[in-house]
Amino acid sequence: MSYGESMDQLLAELSRLPGVGRKTAERLAHHILRMPRDDADRLARSIHEVKRRTRSCSRCANITEQDPCAICSDARRDAARLCVVEQPRDVVAMEEAAAWRGLYHVLGGRVSPLDGVGAAELTIERLVCRVREDDVREIVVATSPDLEGDGTCLEIERALLPTGVRVTRIARGVPTGYSLENASAAMLQDAVRGRFDVAETSDGRDADGSEAPGAPGEQDTPQPDTAP
Ligand SMILES: [Zn+2]
Repeated sequence: MSYGESMDQLLAELSRLPGVGRKTAERLAHHILRMPRDDADRLARSIHEVKRRTRSCSRCANITEQDPCAICSDARRDAARLCVVEQPRDVVAMEEAAAWRGLYHVLGGRVSPLDGVGAAELTIERLVCRVREDDVREIVVATSPDLEGDGTCLEIERALLPTGVRVTRIARGVPTGYSLENASAAMLQDAVRGRFDVAETSDGRDADGSEAPGAPGEQDTPQPDTAP
């Protein structure tokens, strides 16, 4: 059954959004139909504005309204260290946790052969250029701790090999605040492999566990094993 041309068109557009099936699209469309006209106009305007005003930062590829973005323009940050993440919302998560004082590099996804995404579809080439052109001393790969995230990390490592830059991977294993008895075998194996000297936590890190840029002890931090 058709609701009429304009409603059918709205349904078709909503159905194209990720995670929105036909039923959800119908629920959203009927909700929009019931909204006061001002609210609906505001929604339409915000979609229009976000497309008009946001772009990709020419340095880190994060989404931004100014280029370079506020993070890349912040002189107080440690520009010698780049944290490589899959998508813009990972940057938000890291910033909200105040977990990183360096700059970022947003890949725009991850290597996923099943979805037809190879290294060329990501911003790895741009990352290599940044390392060559700027005084970058460390790349911290913060892709997801799973098969595709590890595969992506390997591609990054391979691409950066000729530059000689230090490539590290964020720690993985038992999550903070978790108990060992509830941890999976994979978590425990990762935790043992990524172990570090106890003295490091009292010497080289802030009380919140984040490492200060250029903190002592960073040279002897054991390298997590990034091999698959
Ligand atoms: Zn940027």
